[in-house]
Amino acid sequence: MTRRLTRRRMVGGTAVSAAAILGGRRETEAEPLKESPVVRLRLLETSDLHMFVYDYDYYNARQDNTVGLAKVATLIAEARAGAVNSLLFDNGDIIQGNPLGDYMALAGHLSDADGHPMFRAMNRLGYDAATLGNHEFNYGLDFLRRAMRTARFPFVCSNVDTPDGASLLPSTLVLDRVVTDERGGSHTLRIGLIGLVTPQIMVWDRASLAGRVVATDIVEAALRHVPALRRTCDLVIALCHSGIADAPRIGGEENAALYLARVPGIDAILTGHAHRVFPGPDYAGLTGVDAVRGALHGVPAVMPGFWGSHLGLIDLTLGHDAARGWHVRDFAVEARPIYRREGRDAIALVADSAPVIEAARPEHAATLRWMNQPVGSSTVAINTYLSLLGNDAALTLVNQAQLWYAAPLVAAGRYAHLPLLSAASPFKAGGAGPDSFVDIKPGPLDMRDIASLYMFANTVCVVKVSGAELREWLERSCALFARIDPAVGAAQRLFAPRAASYQFDTIAGLTYEIDLSQPARYDGDGKPTGTQARRVARLQRDGRDVRDADEFLIVTNNYRASGGGAFPGTGGDHVVLSAPDLNRDVLVRYVTGSRSVSPVPDRIWWFRRFAAPVVLAFDGAPETANHLSNRPDIARLGDGTGGYVRYGLTVA
Ligand code: MN
Ligand code: MG
Repeated sequence: MTRRLTRRRMVGGTAVSAAAILGGRRETEAEPLKESPVVRLRLLETSDLHMFVYDYDYYNARQDNTVGLAKVATLIAEARAGAVNSLLFDNGDIIQGNPLGDYMALAGHLSDADGHPMFRAMNRLGYDAATLGNHEFNYGLDFLRRAMRTARFPFVCSNVDTPDGASLLPSTLVLDRVVTDERGGSHTLRIGLIGLVTPQIMVWDRASLAGRVVATDIVEAALRHVPALRRTCDLVIALCHSGIADAPRIGGEENAALYLARVPGIDAILTGHAHRVFPGPDYAGLTGVDAVRGALHGVPAVMPGFWGSHLGLIDLTLGHDAARGWHVRDFAVEARPIYRREGRDAIALVADSAPVIEAARPEHAATLRWMNQPVGSSTVAINTYLSLLGNDAALTLVNQAQLWYAAPLVAAGRYAHLPLLSAASPFKAGGAGPDSFVDIKPGPLDMRDIASLYMFANTVCVVKVSGAELREWLERSCALFARIDPAVGAAQRLFAPRAASYQFDTIAGLTYEIDLSQPARYDGDGKPTGTQARRVARLQRDGRDVRDADEFLIVTNNYRASGGGAFPGTGGDHVVLSAPDLNRDVLVRYVTGSRSVSPVPDRIWWFRRFAAPVVLAFDGAPETANHLSNRPDIARLGDGTGGYVRYGLTVA
């Protein structure tokens, strides 16, 4: 792949430092520009690749045309061929997110000689710079530092500092790039970069980051660093590992790209983290957002999906005049997909890049061998087709394993007298498409099945909560559901817009009823809605009502325990045990030790009946229909969009 821009180039036959030409005082240029030049500069973005080098679904062991840097690489080559000047950036969430990432993080698998396969693959593409995503911190700082040594491109991170005030990585970068204008003339552009990550890393990865780094607010960091870049640079670009939200700003937001756009002096924003596509309908209707043109408060911005689904493009048309120097005159933004849907099928729009595939081949093959290792067997089917509708085998198995692991640890501690509960949520329950469900048949279980059931590299934690907090925890979970009007005869949508299955905890050891006629006490971010109403009713432990002053222990994962999802009863004050073991490894040990498991669900929760039957519509997979033999209350309503099938649950 040719690099359109070179780091240093001879200008006019003489090596001239960029600073001499464009040091912010353009009147000193040796040859003043006679006519105002126009430069077209294309910014290319990948984001949230999450170790998807291959177009491969590790959980179902099959080709997946919706993912993979190997396919994005072909889009990158095409986009470069169609531009005179281009730059390529990655926006973070690189080293974690699929079994290849987990395999590399196992002790002894990353060698300094071979390096990290994701960065080897990225090195083939000639990235100009990258920033860190929140998931870069999941395996700890030492692993991150070792893995990054493989990258032959620079990193920038402007809002993560070490306690002594030094930044973890360069807080700004300046790239001098020679560009060609519309008439063939050469100019050196001085391009300033900032990199920003969700400050919530301090919550989500508290155990490995507390005391070692401090993350600060995205907008505050930009206000600190942009003015200095602006004084010396022709353009300032923000690599922002954060999504887009338009709620009134209070500070510290996870999705802060829209607020960032208000910081003066930023010419373009690369966004990510939210795993959505921008421009496009995902963010239509938000105040300050032009979801058609791709702009946040007028600043060009893009978000390229996730796992390599899209390449982000921002085409800048730059003008130059004495007063303003180089400036953006016009822009066009696009998120270019690697596939299109035809019903359920994902049709590839581009071929794989062979060099990218080649770069990660040994570790990819080793990961496949690792995933084929037998673990045990199950007497029942384990799937997540109905995990959000009631009690199921998938969450039962996770909770059984967590209780099995935590019970002896708790029994040895000062809270041995408290009841031990277990919380689990389904990670793969249709959120990423009709294929994104766990589907394990009765019979042998291998590592692939366990990885499918527990995708995240979380560690086991135990928190102590009051009865009142426990009740609110469950209310927070119920943000998943839309409010149902029992008086409406037609089918009503069961799930709230943008509902996230991983924020719906089922807590084993309790029984409770969920009343969907009531409004939600919490929104999808975990913020209280202000209502006095309650959805959770008849909350009991061993047939006895839970009282506010009761105390409980809940075994969960580090994400939830440290405050992920903003559940009441979580956070550092509540954590009584942080185990070193991954929840997934605990599952493996539980299944291996049992040899055969039978995770038949207890009746934990159910929807409260309405006065008359109400049909609750939800999107499932075509395969959901295979698991309805004992569910006369669920019927197929028709086709959904994007390959989903619409089902109706009758609550009567
Ligand atoms: Mn991500
Ligand atoms: Mg992220």
